[in-house]
Parts: sequence; C-alpha cells; structure tokens
Amino acid sequence: MSTHDDAILDDAARWRSRDLAVLWHPCTQMREHPDVLPLLPVARAQGPWLVGHDGARTLDAVSSWWVTLHGHTEPRIAEAIARQARTLEQVILAGCSHAPAVELAERLLAIAPREPSRPPLAKVFYADNGSAGIEVALKMAFHWFRNRGDEPRRTKFIALQNGYHGETIGALSVGDIPLYRRIYAPLLMQAVFAPSPDAYLARPGQSGEGCAEDAADALAHLLDEHAGEICALVLEPLVQCAGGMRMHHPAYLRRVRELCDVHGVFLIADEIAVGFGRTGTMFACEQAGIQPDLLCLSKGLTGGFLPLAAVLATQAIYDGFLDDSRERAFLHSHSYTGNPLACAAALASLDIFASDDVLVRNQATAARMAELARGIAAMPDVADVRQTGMIVAFELAPGGDRRAAFEPARRVGLRAYRAALERGVLLRPLGDVLYWMPPYCIDESQLALLAETTRAAIAEAVA
Ligand SMILES: *Cc1c(COP(=O)(O)O)cnc(C)c1O
Repeated sequence: MSTHDDAILDDAARWRSRDLAVLWHPCTQMREHPDVLPLLPVARAQGPWLVGHDGARTLDAVSSWWVTLHGHTEPRIAEAIARQARTLEQVILAGCSHAPAVELAERLLAIAPREPSRPPLAKVFYADNGSAGIEVALKMAFHWFRNRGDEPRRTKFIALQNGYHGETIGALSVGDIPLYRRIYAPLLMQAVFAPSPDAYLARPGQSGEGCAEDAADALAHLLDEHAGEICALVLEPLVQCAGGMRMHHPAYLRRVRELCDVHGVFLIADEIAVGFGRTGTMFACEQAGIQPDLLCLSKGLTGGFLPLAAVLATQAIYDGFLDDSRERAFLHSHSYTGNPLACAAALASLDIFASDDVLVRNQATAARMAELARGIAAMPDVADVRQTGMIVAFELAPGGDRRAAFEPARRVGLRAYRAALERGVLLRPLGDVLYWMPPYCIDESQLALLAETTRAAIAEAVA
C-alpha cells in the first residue's frame, strides 16, 4: 500500500490492513477477511463494551469467547494484576511455591461442587488454557490406572456426541464437532461416543428429562459393552456450548455419576465454559447435586483477563501417584503453570463474586434475559429458544421447523453476525444458532439493545 493510500485511510482501516498483512486469526477462513467476514479493530474496552479507534462502541454479547465475566477492564482485577506484577510476576512452580497459587487452590477447593457422601475434591493442578486442562485430566485418569497396574485394558475414554473440549490433539479426540475434528481424524486417539442428552433432540412429545433418561440408558449399554476398557468419561455439564448451546436436563448428570461409580470410571466435568456462574450456580454440577472426580476450569477463571486452567482432583486420584518411582509421578508441566499474575486475577474475580453478590444479581439479569427472549421466540424462523442461567440461545430454522435447517450456502448465521455488528452488537453465532452470553455487568438498557438488535439481525438474515 502506498503512503498516499495510507494517509486517506482512517485508523481502523489502517489497523485492519496491518493486521491482515501479518496475522493468522483463530477459527477463521482467512480468505473471508475482510469482505465476507468483517474484522473489528478494538482499541480499548470497558464493561460490556468494545471501543473502536473512532470511539464507536460495540456490545460484547459473547463475553469475548465466554471468558469475560464481570466486564472488560474491571478495575479491581486490573489493579490486582498490576500489584502482583510489581511483586512476583512468574516463578517456576516445580520446586517453588507462591501465595497466589496456594490461596487460589484453597479457595477453588472450598467452592467446588460437593456431594456429602464423597470425599471432596482435594488437590489442584494448574495448566494455562482449557485444552491443556483437558489434556491434564485425561492423562491423569489414564495414568492412575497404569499406576494401579491391575487393569491394563483401561485405555479408552467415553465422551458425548456433539461435545467440545478444545483443539489440541488429545482434547480434539474426545470432541465430536465434525467441523473441527474431521480433517484431523487420522491423528486422533479412538474415543467412544455416547448419545447426547441434548433436549433439542427430544422426540415429539418427549420431555427434556425423558430425552436425558434415554441418553443415560444408551450410555449404560456402552459402558457394559466396554466394561474394563474405559478410564474416564468426559462431558460438559448442562450446556454443550460449542456444539450450539445445546442444553440437557440435570437428571442425566445424576445417572452418569451413578454409572461411572458402578463401572469404576472417573467422571471428568469440563466446566471450562459453564463454570463461574454461567449456568446460574457457581458450577453446573451443583444443579444435579453431583461431584466429579476431576473438574476442569478455565475461561472465566481469571475473570477473562489472563489464560489459566485448573484441574481439581480427588485425594484418591492424587494418592495413586505417590510412590518411590518418579515414573509413577505426574510428570506433566507447562512453562507458565500457576502463573502468579493469572492466579492474582482469579483471586480478584472470586472476591468480586463475594463482594458484589454476583450470583444473586445474575438471577435478576437472567430473568430479564428470559423476558426479552420471549419476544424473539415468536419470530417465524426461530425454532427454539433455550436458556440456562446467563446463556440464552436461539435456534434458527426455516419456518421454525425443528427438523429443518437452512441451506448452509445461505450463511444465515454469518448474515446475522454482520447485521448485528452493523448495529453495534457482537454476536458470534455457532452455525445458525445465535446466543447471548454477556458479561455479568450487562444492564437493562444494554439488554434492551441486545434484544432489539438480535431481532433485527434475525429478520435481516432470513430475509
Ligand atoms: C473453550 C473450551 C475448551 C478449550 O479451552 P481453550 O482455552 O480454548 O483451549 C474446552 N472445553 C470447553 C467446554 C470449552 O468451551
């Protein structure tokens, strides 16, 4: 580009062009940028708003890929990170210890889902993103059985159809979203996939609970069929987020917990997306009254400021690695394991949950989201509106027919995305599913803008 061209471009256009010259964006067909797929340069952010170089505001209705909890640049978290950065920015966590890592582990264990009849989750292993956390949990479950030595056939995992657990090879192996998985299939380890309890798949006249019971029966058969071969089952409790915000009845989770116990299989709860209040309770498992053997947390863990993951494990799993031999130890590590800045951000986020009574405030916000969603449910091409806590999803299908789908070539979801963006709202549909997953600070007028824009975006996309 010549200097003359450069001079007549505005700031946003200049950043767009510098970006596309050097960046390769995540989860993007780069050929679509910028003509088919807009590229939004963000100069700063505050609360639920992303602010462009020209000062124009865009409402972040997807919490920047589900990580931003309380709001962008929340001053208390920003301050905690700054303070920590001046004190201890990073230290090797093998052989060293630091207060933020210890305190965060103590507090996570204290709030973790708990069944009175079970020994509680007792130990925390840190990783630095969600996929890495899943890898940790899978390796721990497998290695625990290796260490015990008496069940050498336990080498497989069970996961759910339409589930998502991240993009690294191990996490992708237990994921079931063809768009992300299919091309890499030859590289992946074999997992066993059980039917999803997804209530959207209920037969006509069947309740969500009935659908969940059917899926649990199918899981029971699979566990029988693979008796002695499975080391762990991994699932996203209550909401399969990347799979289109598909939701299921908590009865399924209770059945899964029982079945895992009967078959001696570890239950890994992936609360990377649904943890920290997203579903209305601090953790989704609470709504089923179940406690997993391994709990994976990330995304909102730091309030959305820094990458961090935590895997919570039972004492029994931890004890299975104690030995005189180093090989029986869990020799997994990441350079930034337990980074103090990320731990300080997570501690500040937990403080906000307490001081601002976030879960209680969210009940009112979620109720308002439900009211606003009701108006959109009546639109002709909306086949389903579903909600779990602070997540509302709109399933678009021609004529609102649950068994139909728009021609993929129509790019209905993409058209809705563009229409919303032009109106100052960042919705990022999953296929033809639009959803609201806003930062918890979203207020009444912002919710009204979100609802009005969603309605307009749907109308424009299906026109
Ligand atoms: C996002 C996500 C992951 C992966 O986390 P990354 O930090 O993106 O690697 C895993 N599981 C679930 C349920 C997720 O939503």
